[in-house]
Amino acid sequence: MSEELLRVDGIDAAYGQSKILQDVSLSIDRGEVVSLVGRNGAGKTTTLRSIVGILTPSAGTITFEGEDITALSDYETVARGIQYVPEDRQVFPDLTVDENLRMGELKSGGAGALSMSEVFDRFPRLRERRSNSGAQLSGGEQQMLVIARALLGQTDLLLLDEPTEGLAPQIVEDVIEIIETISDEGVTILLVEQNVQAAMSVADRHYVINKGQNVYEGTTEELRNADEILEQHLGVGGEMDLSI
Ligand code: ATP
Repeated sequence: MSEELLRVDGIDAAYGQSKILQDVSLSIDRGEVVSLVGRNGAGKTTTLRSIVGILTPSAGTITFEGEDITALSDYETVARGIQYVPEDRQVFPDLTVDENLRMGELKSGGAGALSMSEVFDRFPRLRERRSNSGAQLSGGEQQMLVIARALLGQTDLLLLDEPTEGLAPQIVEDVIEIIETISDEGVTILLVEQNVQAAMSVADRHYVINKGQNVYEGTTEELRNADEILEQHLGVGGEMDLSI
């Protein structure tokens, strides 16, 4: 039996007078990996910020584990097990890997949270690099670090904002593998991506948004065959290789 973990129901959101989201809805069952894809500026980050509570929707509701979290702050949603990894990676360049992780430890704990040693077991590359500064890490290692830092807190839902952005194809595959591993361990994931190939290689279902509105919802198989959606809203042409 599938159990709904998150439901975003008809939310509107704005920055001041700029209305960004209009009637955006999505739902995620526990254990799923779901993607939210769309072009640059479509409203993907704004949707994540609304779920986390950095931004409060002006209409609609957000329900998590059956409770209304629409008006909760980011501190309150973190305490409920929603971890957000923003697009800009937020690695402290002058701090070591160890210190960067300890910054995450400040919000650590809760059911299912990983300890530092469990994080290093999970990401041996970070253990090797633990004395290196954030600035010395590659883009892929930085992404690994921010995901690892999120997992130091109770993580029932992990929100990843464009984790593959700016990474070389080989490193994109490494990041996808990390997402698969985390998912296999039972964490529910909402993945925001502009890289639709990456999204299709790891997520079970997909929501496409454009100009702040839902335009499509489907499984990977359905999206793969939805040529018009791929071309019109995701800029993926017919000859494009959709395998990764
Ligand atoms: P990207 O891939 O660029 O991150 P996105 O789909 O995540 O795209 P959003 O970041 O949600 O898009 O932005 C949606 C719209 O909101 C864009 O038009 C953007 O210019 C606008 N926007 C984003 N942040 C702000 C802000 N702080 N103030 C005003 N407008 C904003």
